[in-house]
Amino acid sequence: MTYHSTRGQAPVLVFDDVLLAGLARDGGLYLPQRWPTLSADELRSLAGLPYAELAVRVMRPFINGTIAEDDFAQLVSETYGVFDHAAVAPLKQLGRNDWLLELFHGPTLAFKDYALQLLGRLFDHVLRTKGRRVTIVGATSGDTGSAAIEACRDREAVDIVILHPHGRTSEVQRRQMTTVASANVHNIALEGTFDDCQDMVKAMFNDQAFRDELNLSAVNSINWARIMAQIVYYVAAATALGAPGREVAFAVPTGNFGNVYAAFAARRLGLPISQLVVGSNTNDILTRFFETGEMVMGQVVPTLSPSMDIQVSSNFERYLFDLFGEDAGEVRARMGAFRQSGRFSVDSARMTAIRTLFAGYRLDDEGTRQVIRRIYQETGELIDPHSAIGVAAGRACRRDPATPMVALATAHPAKFPAAVEAATGVRPALPPRLADLFERPERYDVLPNDFDTVKAYVRRAARVAA
Ligand SMILES: *Cc1c(COP(=O)(O)O)cnc(C)c1O
Repeated sequence: MTYHSTRGQAPVLVFDDVLLAGLARDGGLYLPQRWPTLSADELRSLAGLPYAELAVRVMRPFINGTIAEDDFAQLVSETYGVFDHAAVAPLKQLGRNDWLLELFHGPTLAFKDYALQLLGRLFDHVLRTKGRRVTIVGATSGDTGSAAIEACRDREAVDIVILHPHGRTSEVQRRQMTTVASANVHNIALEGTFDDCQDMVKAMFNDQAFRDELNLSAVNSINWARIMAQIVYYVAAATALGAPGREVAFAVPTGNFGNVYAAFAARRLGLPISQLVVGSNTNDILTRFFETGEMVMGQVVPTLSPSMDIQVSSNFERYLFDLFGEDAGEVRARMGAFRQSGRFSVDSARMTAIRTLFAGYRLDDEGTRQVIRRIYQETGELIDPHSAIGVAAGRACRRDPATPMVALATAHPAKFPAAVEAATGVRPALPPRLADLFERPERYDVLPNDFDTVKAYVRRAARVAA
């Protein structure tokens, strides 16, 4: 299995190098050159397997030839062993053909643990094998940071620097990052938005000399290995609900297009997914795209669902690559135009094809509160604001009431207690492993949105530079 860049001007790599590289050297994103397939028989044989076993079977073709099979199975088993629900990604029924896929049973209570807990272990394994160290740099709107830090803390071959937008994450989110007392963990509170943080990380990666000096590496959703690990829960959920004999639809609250791209990838492997509904908050660049065929960057507005306060959907580039028949020149031209003018458009014939699979839906904060309240009244379940947008999107856009609609619950309600309490009058409690979060001391540095200042900070943090 080899991987190529969506922009066609970076070296072709095998899995372990894609893992360590994150972003491709030409600014593109890595994708498999030839996709594996899951036949109907294979899908049938996956139904009901323990999550870790199913995960190994789904991911094995993607790592083919780079990590020994037994080692990989061991890493995957350790990864999902730290989750605090026996099913790892349990399905909960909300109504007839109306399901919630709970993806918040990992150490930091958001779906990002499902990929990042594996990534931390894969990094450690591959770096030890190669005798190398890396500096991981990442931007977070809240949940990626804590999940990445939790996955990399105390790993000998890794230093990790995470940038979050100062004052724009929830207190629980911030504390989950800043209370980790490991020497290899560094938190920057950047004076800017999440997109500023993301631009800063991209600028560091585009500075070739700096990138090589510190062995920079990324764990953002641009890293292929994250997409790979996220494919697994779509396969687990769909086969549990009757695939391949039955089609399944998913509703995904997304900003970066990462999670929903994993669903698209699962479909490409052969999973019978009939519809993908993309839910956004007021930062609705994706929803506007599905409505109009134009991708137009807007201003970021803070909302109740901060992990989706994004106006640049990095992973969309992977979908574009597929949309344009894997023509890297076409992707380069569109991404270049987007960078210059903040917009690009897709012709109406292609949009018609896109809309046979995708729909977009937006929900503002008031709507989000109403959905949290309604779900609580109907079912007794407390859901977080991101998950509420997913549920609402699925209910509003579903085409076929006979097809199960699975909304992704991407965070535990206790990660956003203020919003949930305001909507329902009930304050969700943190699970036992985080119960003392508000007593733990914090450690972070506030920095201006200035490239040289941030670079100097990262250089000091990185033990590889010493
Ligand atoms: C990160 C995150 C999202 C958005 O994920 P994408 O990678 O943008 O698809 C949604 N909900 C929660 C709780 C998150 O942490």
